[in-house]
Amino acid sequence: MSAVKAAGVRVTLDRKSILRGVDLAVASGSWHAVLGPNGAGKSTLLKAIVGILPYQGEIQVGGEAVAKLAAKARARLIAYVPQQPQLPADMTVAEYVLLGRTPHLGYLGVESRTDRAVADGALERLDLAGFAGRRLGAMSGGERQRVVLARALAQQAGVLLLDEPTTALDLGHQQQVLDLVDELRSTEGLTVISTLHDLSLAAQYADDLTLLVDGAVVAHGTAREVLTEQRIAEHYGARVRVFDD
Ligand code: ADP
Ligand code: MG
Ligand code: MG
Repeated sequence: MSAVKAAGVRVTLDRKSILRGVDLAVASGSWHAVLGPNGAGKSTLLKAIVGILPYQGEIQVGGEAVAKLAAKARARLIAYVPQQPQLPADMTVAEYVLLGRTPHLGYLGVESRTDRAVADGALERLDLAGFAGRRLGAMSGGERQRVVLARALAQQAGVLLLDEPTTALDLGHQQQVLDLVDELRSTEGLTVISTLHDLSLAAQYADDLTLLVDGAVVAHGTAREVLTEQRIAEHYGARVRVFDD
């Protein structure tokens, strides 16, 4: 069953056609990578899916048309982590993760005991229990990415959208964060859709890939199907081999 389904999605910004009829079907519990050169429309597609950008066409998450849902109901279905989210330096890790309970408000609402328990569970899940009282300004890049994931997890949505989750990280931390996402996918049954600029990492982690170029899908399938040398040369203008054989 598809957790996320998009059909004929079009987005126009400043009278410029950014997405030109995108289709996407993401199986429940799978990891789907959206790839493509800079400016292809990857971030725009994620924003349309999470419902923060107006679009034409159809997008369904868990069988519901997200655009028609109120912010609170939408937040129960889908969690979105933008590329390099702004973290308020003075906020503590525990406060920030609690924000995942009230994403529709954009600020910390009156939290219940359940909210606290869920947020604590998310901290624990991401090995952050010892950091609860730490200010966000005092966290390293890898730690901040874990905090952001903990907040998304606290939201308890079934679908997680990650826009370039590894850009701010060094190589070791990139693997660590993606391993963690993969673990959450299998243990919590999350469906993951992420953009990833590193093609080898995408091949390593994603079950299915969509290659977006100039606002349109040019290929989708497994990494071996999508990431051929010829296609990479054509669309990235680079000679890269993702697979050795
Ligand atoms: P990607 O994430 O694949 O790098 P984006 O989705 O960020 O691409 O952007 C796709 C295209 O849309 C780019 O050409 C970008 O300049 C343009 N774009 C993005 N946001 C806006 C906006 N608010 N107004 C006009 N054009 C935009
Ligand atoms: Mg970009
Ligand atoms: Mg982008």
